[in-house]
Amino acid sequence: MKKLLLVKYAPEIFLKGLNKGKFERKLIDNIKSVLKDLKYDFVNDTGRWFLEFEDIEEGLKRVKRVFGVSEVCVVTEVEADMEEIKKQALKEAADIKADTFKVQTNRANKSFPGTSMDISREVGAYILMNSEELKVDVNNPKGVINIEIREKAYVYSKRVKAEGGMPYGTNGSTMLMLSGGIDSPVAGYMMARRGVQLNCVYFHSHPYTSERAKEKVKDLANILKSYTGDVKLYVAPFTEIQMQIIEKCREDELTIIMRRFMMRVACRLAELKGINSVTTGESIGQVASQTMEGLVVSNDVADRPVFRPLIAMDKVDIMDKAREIDTYETSILPYEDCCTVFVPKHPKTKPRLEEIRKSESVLDIEKLVEDSVANCEVY
Ligand code: ATP
Ligand code: MG
Repeated sequence: MKKLLLVKYAPEIFLKGLNKGKFERKLIDNIKSVLKDLKYDFVNDTGRWFLEFEDIEEGLKRVKRVFGVSEVCVVTEVEADMEEIKKQALKEAADIKADTFKVQTNRANKSFPGTSMDISREVGAYILMNSEELKVDVNNPKGVINIEIREKAYVYSKRVKAEGGMPYGTNGSTMLMLSGGIDSPVAGYMMARRGVQLNCVYFHSHPYTSERAKEKVKDLANILKSYTGDVKLYVAPFTEIQMQIIEKCREDELTIIMRRFMMRVACRLAELKGINSVTTGESIGQVASQTMEGLVVSNDVADRPVFRPLIAMDKVDIMDKAREIDTYETSILPYEDCCTVFVPKHPKTKPRLEEIRKSESVLDIEKLVEDSVANCEVY
């Protein structure tokens, strides 16, 4: 008798037809990559994935974070023998802390006697006979005892909801503009959860933004990495660009011109690294630069799709999500970012494209972008 994890993946992967195998293999690789430093055994028993660990709690904690895994069940393996199954089912029934239950059987091993129904009925009757408080409720039970019969039999009632989504690395790549704020890590998480490979760029205005602000962004990238197994972070120098804008452009246009430069550098870097899209943490109406007009003007300089997964989310919901994915506590640490250091008093909320293009034409745009890209540090 031993305890194992039974890993189930998102129903969406079942629907991939001929490509299903490719998604499954990627998911298995990703699971193995987050378990690299643990002692474990992986068994693929005709489409059912079983994991055995020395430290099952740690294994569970890691596997449920892997995108594409929809559920992890803690199962007990016993001999495929009716008496063994009944004994274990009774133990599970005592653990479920519910007053009503049902038994559900999946008989993959067709040489095992009886139908699935017969087995469920017999085990259910045994539990009823040997426990005082429990009643059967087949329609709306508070607890379900699952039995899976293969070479061996597996009995379980504990099912842990996992991340869901698609296996990381199966849906192209994106350059996430990662600031130290609350929003952009959530945006990155949402893209990665759909299988998109993440690369991050952080615009750093040394010495106006501190080393600690940069460390905070690295910490956020590391939290994202705990889901994906890998994340590259580019730190792009932004001081010269900001200085030039402040010196040569109108104060109320600083923010929007700065955002156009961020977009240009992100796109250039993406091009250089063979990355097909850009992602930001923008949400419509949240701040002065995130008006529809502002988004149109900053999008104007992009040469590839720009994804804004938070665009229609409320701030409170984004904050809840940040707490759920463990980035919130790091995001709220009070180190200034380059936008807070250089905020104009009255930024334009309805910038006009023609005007902004004209205002920034006094700058040597190409050189500023090229210098920032050329001097990126990589982590
Ligand atoms: P966040 O909480 O993600 O910082 P925000 O609400 O503070 O977002 P802005 O400062 O207007 O909003 O930034 C909008 C988006 O631009 C951010 O979500 C992020 O994707 C990108 N961004 C802003 N500042 C930086 C920076 N210093 N480095 C990289 N990306 C940035
Ligand atoms: Mg910000």
